[in-house]
Amino acid sequence: MIKKINKNVIELSFKNFGSCIYLVNINKKIILIDTGSLLTRSELKEDLENLKINPEKIDIVILTHNHWDHTGNNKLFSNAKFYGNKKDFKKEKILDIDNLNIKEFKIIQTPGHTKGSFCILYKDILFSGDTIFHKGYIGRTDLPGGDPDEIQKSLKKLSKIKYKTLCPGHLL
Ligand SMILES: [Zn+2]
Repeated sequence: MIKKINKNVIELSFKNFGSCIYLVNINKKIILIDTGSLLTRSELKEDLENLKINPEKIDIVILTHNHWDHTGNNKLFSNAKFYGNKKDFKKEKILDIDNLNIKEFKIIQTPGHTKGSFCILYKDILFSGDTIFHKGYIGRTDLPGGDPDEIQKSLKKLSKIKYKTLCPGHLL
């Protein structure tokens, strides 16, 4: 499903299981946040077609953390540079999020769901990956790399961040 969050941000959510994908238009370039799961590939392709977006023309993809339901369609974006946290991604192909040079984005490290989970603040929108969801739900900490104490610290950190719109990794 395609949902316009504001004039620069589109949310894609899917019937099959997989993360939401966010498209952020900054200076006429589209930045992708997460790529969903293999199970959502055909829905994603259809949505991109409807939006007249060629996946090969996407320059930057940001991965909020390294879980299969957020990274399943990376290969569709064959010309993009991928950014993620080195604590989650050992592969050289994924560039470290510290080197992301988009001044509109503030990266907030929020370990707990995974070691390398982070959130992105863009104006008054928080892209929260699997750290927090709508209605106060929080991310699982029982998967490898998860840590309940760490996520509590991260939640405290986020409670001090001012934002109006939450764009989480799953709508639940
Ligand atoms: Zn996850």
